[in-house]
Amino acid sequence: RVAGSKADISREKSAILFEKAKKYFPGGVNSPVRAFKSVYGTPLFIEKGDGCFLWDADGNQFIDFCCSWGPLILGHNHPKIREAVISTLQHGLSFGAPTALENELAELILKNNKYIQKLRFVSSGTEAVMSAIRLARGYTKRDKIIKFEGCYHGHSDSLLVKAGSGLVTFGETSSLGVPKAFADETVVIGLNDKEALERAFAEFKEEIAAVIIEGIPANNGLLMQNKEYIEFLRKITSDHGSLLIFDEVITGFRLGFEGAAAYYDVHPDIITYGKIIGGGMPVGAYGSSEEIMGYISPDGGVYQAGTLSGNPVAMAAGIAQLSELNKPGFYKELNKKAAEFSASIQRYASAKNYKVRVFNVGSIFWIAFTDKDNIQAASDIEAESMDKYKVMHRELLNRGVYLGPSGYEVGFVSAAHSKIELEKAKRAIFESLDVVFK
Ligand code: PLP
Repeated sequence: RVAGSKADISREKSAILFEKAKKYFPGGVNSPVRAFKSVYGTPLFIEKGDGCFLWDADGNQFIDFCCSWGPLILGHNHPKIREAVISTLQHGLSFGAPTALENELAELILKNNKYIQKLRFVSSGTEAVMSAIRLARGYTKRDKIIKFEGCYHGHSDSLLVKAGSGLVTFGETSSLGVPKAFADETVVIGLNDKEALERAFAEFKEEIAAVIIEGIPANNGLLMQNKEYIEFLRKITSDHGSLLIFDEVITGFRLGFEGAAAYYDVHPDIITYGKIIGGGMPVGAYGSSEEIMGYISPDGGVYQAGTLSGNPVAMAAGIAQLSELNKPGFYKELNKKAAEFSASIQRYASAKNYKVRVFNVGSIFWIAFTDKDNIQAASDIEAESMDKYKVMHRELLNRGVYLGPSGYEVGFVSAAHSKIELEKAKRAIFESLDVVFK
C-alpha cells in the first residue's frame, strides 16, 4: 500500500512483533506514547524511513508528520547525515574523552546564536532540562521552580508534577515514584495567566530559582503564547532575582536557528535543546551566559556528567544537520511550506463548517477539534475532542499518512516533504475529516 492511497492497512506483522514486545517491555514499548493507547489499533513497527516516508513491517508506506517527534527536520535518512555518521563511526564509536567534533558543533551553534555563550552537551532533552534546573538552583541558591500546566519537560522528578487544587499550590506528582518532597519544590500554574504568576511570586518571593516554559508549548496541543506574556515572564523573573529557562527541546533549531528566543526576541537565562540538535542521534544541550555556565563542574560546584556526552557519532550527525539548517533561506522556505499546508487544511475545514482549527508556527502544526480561535492554556482543550482525533488518525493511517498517536501531539513538516507529497497528504486529511464529521 503506497502513501496517499486508500486501503485498510494490514498490521499483521506489526501485531506479531507487538505481541512479542509485550513479553519484553512494559506495554510492549520503550516510551509510553508509542503504545497507541490513545488511538485505534496496535503500534506500527517501523522498518525504514527515507525522505518524508516511513515503511512499516507490513510494507505499508506513509507520509510521516511525526518525524521521530521532531528531530528529523530534514526528513529520514538524509544523505549528508548518513554519510557523516558512517565516516565518523569508522574511527570508533566512543572515547569518553574530548574530540574536535564537540568543538565543531558548539562553534556552529554559538556563532549563530546570540542568546547563549557556552553550552554543555548531554544525551537527551530530559537530561538537558534536569541539568538546567540544577544549574538554576545552584546559581540562585534557591530551591523552588515554577512550571506551567500543559508544558512537558521530560521525565526528571522535579518536572513530573501537575497542578494541585487551589489558586497557588504546591504541585502534585504526576507519576508514582516521585517523592512528595520533590513536588513541594515545584509550583505549577496555568499558562497565559499573569495573575497566577504574580500570586506565586508574592507567596514564594525569594524562594524561586527559576520559571521554566517551553519555547512555544507544543506537548499538549500547540499553545501559542503572546509575546507580551513572554516579556512579562522575563520581567517578573528578573525583578525577583529568578532565572528564566526556555525549554527549546522542540522549538530550538525548529522555529529558526535561534529558536523561540529569537522568535519572541526575549533573552532567557538558560536554554535547553534536544531533538534537532542531534540530527536523529541522542543529543541534548543546555546553554547560558559565560557567568552562569561557570557554575557547572569542573569550573563550578554544580555537578553534571555523562559517559556518552558529546559522543562523536552523535556530534557528527548534529553538525551535518545544523549545517544544512544554517544555509540562507532554509527556514523561510520550510516555514512557508508548512504555513500553506496548514492554511489549506483550515480552508477546507472552514468551508465545510467542520469544528476544526489548524494552529501553525514555523514548521509545527496542530489539528485541533475545536471552534476556539485561541488555545493558549491546557485548560482550553476539551478532552472529548480527542475522540475525533482518534477517528482521523485511523482514517489517515488507512490513507498512508502518519501522525503522532495522540490528539495532543503536534505534527512536523520537514524539508523532505515535497509539494507532491503535501498535496497527497492534504487530500488524505480532507477525506479523513469528511469521515470524522459524517
Ligand atoms: N522538553 C520538551 C519541550 C520536550 O518536548 C521533550 C520531549 O518530547 C523533552 C523535554 C524531553 O526530551 P527527551 O525525550 O529527549 O528526553
